[in-house]
Amino acid sequence: MTYKNFPMVPRVIFGRGSFNQINDVLAPKRKNINAPFVFLIDDAFKGNPWLTSRIQLAYDDKIIFIPTKEEPKTEQVDALVEDIIVQSKERPSGIIGIGGGTTLDMAKAVAIMLTNSGEAKDYQGWDLVKNQAIYHVGIPTISGTGAEVSRTTVLTGPEKKLGINSDYTPFDQVILDSELTKDVPKNQWFYTGMDCYIHCVESLTGTYLNEFSKSYGEKAFELCKQIFLDDTLSKTDAQEKLMMASWHGGMSIAYSQVGVAHALSYGLAFLLGVKHGIGNCIVFNHLEEFYPEGVALFKKMKEKHKIELPEGICANLSEDEFNTMIKVALGLEPLWENALGKNWKTIATPEKLRSLYEKM
Ligand code: NAD
Ligand code: ZN
Repeated sequence: MTYKNFPMVPRVIFGRGSFNQINDVLAPKRKNINAPFVFLIDDAFKGNPWLTSRIQLAYDDKIIFIPTKEEPKTEQVDALVEDIIVQSKERPSGIIGIGGGTTLDMAKAVAIMLTNSGEAKDYQGWDLVKNQAIYHVGIPTISGTGAEVSRTTVLTGPEKKLGINSDYTPFDQVILDSELTKDVPKNQWFYTGMDCYIHCVESLTGTYLNEFSKSYGEKAFELCKQIFLDDTLSKTDAQEKLMMASWHGGMSIAYSQVGVAHALSYGLAFLLGVKHGIGNCIVFNHLEEFYPEGVALFKKMKEKHKIELPEGICANLSEDEFNTMIKVALGLEPLWENALGKNWKTIATPEKLRSLYEKM
């Protein structure tokens, strides 16, 4: 047995208001005046000087706003990399992603593709990246995905939704400032927060579980219960706790895997463009047989926060469309093996998946 040798984020700042230190953190990393810092910022912050005015741009530094209506695509990464190369005199000193999972993943992927030839789709998979990425910094503005700690950047390519999983993917620096999450709309807060909760349930009930993952997963699970069920928490405390739950949830799956909800949600995302957070919620709501306790608690949280999930999203799909979703979902073999064990194929049959999708 050989054990995996995982990289971790080497530097992290935690604290309310710590975003103010961004310029001091970056200054020593500037290579020269021709090598800019490129800030990829969630478009929720467009026209919001509260955040952007704190970034001191110098020389050729620039801000690019990232649209978040859709999840990141490989072709979008390629286009951004091309633009940055054309517009900069030299390769950038750093890429700084500020936003949700979409923007953080864009930042990671762009940093990788600036030093690796070819197209982003060529690197979807495990350990295909050859060269070290450009220095990259992640600053989450919504909590839950764990993208700030993970070893992957999830991209939708022409053939699949799959991450670029590599030792060069994790951020070199993360800034965790919960104040940046203060204006997240309630529904989105719930969906992305539940991504974290589902990471914990899938990791803690999976066959890949080990003490490393368990220690992080249990902590994140505990925090989620407080955040989503305890009325006495202050808003600030809840924001700080969710930021750390996201981190621990991400660490938990780093050394194990996610499970059935993520596999089915990837199918919905690939075919229908359903976004990760809400997609996981739609799926998880119907997974009592796999995660009885986790789903019961999820329903309690959903009711408490009066969240209404869309229904009937698969009602009008054709035979071909169902088959596409089922193929994408079943292709994620490690997720199924983690959830159901080595004989997962006897349980997760195409017919079983079809019946689950039909309920959604
Ligand atoms: P997201 O990044 O799309 O953000 C959700 C919405 O919230 C967007 O409309 C965004 O503009 C808005 N938003 C973000 N911060 C805000 C703020 N402070 N105030 C107001 N609005 C704000 O969604 P997400 O759930 O954070 O991330 C989903 C993405 O993350 C998916 O693409 C998924 O594949 C990816 N993901 C990656 C990993 C990983 O390990 N790399 C893990 C899980 C999910
Ligand atoms: Zn997830």
